[in-house]
Amino acid sequence: MIGGYLPAVRFVSTRGRAAAASLGTALFDGLAPDGGLYVPDPVEPWAPEEIASLPSMSLVEMGVRTLRPFARGIDGRTLLAVVRDALDFPIPLVEIEPGVFALELFHGPTLAFKDVGARVMARLMAVVGGDVTVLTATSGDTGSAVANAFHGLASARVVILYPDGRVSPTQEAQLTMFNNEPGSNVRGYAIAGSFDDCQRLVKESFADKGLRSRVPLTSANSINVGRLLPQMIYYFQAMAELARLNGATAATTVCTPSGNFGNLTAGLMAKRAGAPIARFIAATNVNDVVPAYLASGRFEPRASIHTISNAMDVGNPSNFERLLWLYGGDRDAVRRDVSGWGFEDADVRSTIKRVYDRTGYLLDPHSAIGYLGVSTHRGEGQRPRVDQPGIFLATAHPAKFSEIVEPVIGRAVEKPAPLVHALAQGKHVLRLDATLAAVKEAVGG
Ligand SMILES: *Cc1c(COP(=O)(O)O)cnc(C)c1O
Repeated sequence: MIGGYLPAVRFVSTRGRAAAASLGTALFDGLAPDGGLYVPDPVEPWAPEEIASLPSMSLVEMGVRTLRPFARGIDGRTLLAVVRDALDFPIPLVEIEPGVFALELFHGPTLAFKDVGARVMARLMAVVGGDVTVLTATSGDTGSAVANAFHGLASARVVILYPDGRVSPTQEAQLTMFNNEPGSNVRGYAIAGSFDDCQRLVKESFADKGLRSRVPLTSANSINVGRLLPQMIYYFQAMAELARLNGATAATTVCTPSGNFGNLTAGLMAKRAGAPIARFIAATNVNDVVPAYLASGRFEPRASIHTISNAMDVGNPSNFERLLWLYGGDRDAVRRDVSGWGFEDADVRSTIKRVYDRTGYLLDPHSAIGYLGVSTHRGEGQRPRVDQPGIFLATAHPAKFSEIVEPVIGRAVEKPAPLVHALAQGKHVLRLDATLAAVKEAVGG
């Protein structure tokens, strides 16, 4: 790098038929005009000295360094404030068996990894753009992360639609916890219908030109590149923590429990930026269209199947398009970096029990799939070796899925403070008809 020169990063469409965009456009539009997903181009590798100094960097320092090339229009102090404010919780790496590590991404306000992407995205939107109204449909986890991320940001209003009676009591508490707060900028509405109805209402609202002319709508959904970029940060954090604990980072495998494949795509981008990760494992539940693609070369989306790791019940993962773009559509190139495995609910339950009985460490159903991915990989002719560590991403706190985990281990799971707080708010459920007119009124249009 001569004289600190860095090329300007632009956001291009995976479909290659849209003009390159700025970070602001990519953040606020979500999808590119040709229907593709925005990807940053180029992803430049960090200098070798920077990678060598990872163990001495804090999470916030890594966050600023990761985002800086993509956020050239934001001055250094503002970017630091964005990252410091968003990542105000720890992301520890915990060794649960010799050579097997959990990267705990669930210490944020909604106890799942989606807090990282959503909180940074919300603050980037606040500094890059003007007023926004976020309208999002949710089947559970995403909505609460988005609600929390934007809560209290003066330039944002948030309207979340969830299917009445079809989210867990914990999820409903998290989705409605700001409803009763005076002057709250976040409202969660129970829609008299299914998740598909919620999604349809969001789509209809975005297609309503009159509404769009009156209200600055944005969707902030999981395909937004503003959620993807911050997720790169914790892959660097994983390697920094591993170096601090173990001294060595050679031959490390990272397993990402995957549904829409945003999390894994962020990991592959982090590898491109220099994170010293040897291989990735894409672990899924029985919705295993990506592992099947790696094996057969055919990508065959299908209707999703309901499982106990329901945040990963995705039959047509939207980030697959980004993943392929990163490798120029070359499956052999993908396979050099990624292996894929799918697991059944019975494996997940028995793994939660076995790991708990043996080590005292409690996995949620999604993290258990991450653990299974690491151990399956090690079974492949590879002896577990402490000098070849395996890290899995622990994507949710087990207390978030107590209805599944408690019967498996035969005891109650203690609720962490943010969950106790959400449940203590009392229920302030706001109900809405499943009509466009009702939604328009809710968003103030
Ligand atoms: C969303 C989610 C996943 C899947 O992440 P993707 O980026 O969609 O692959 C895994 N675990 C939990 C707990 C989630 O909420």
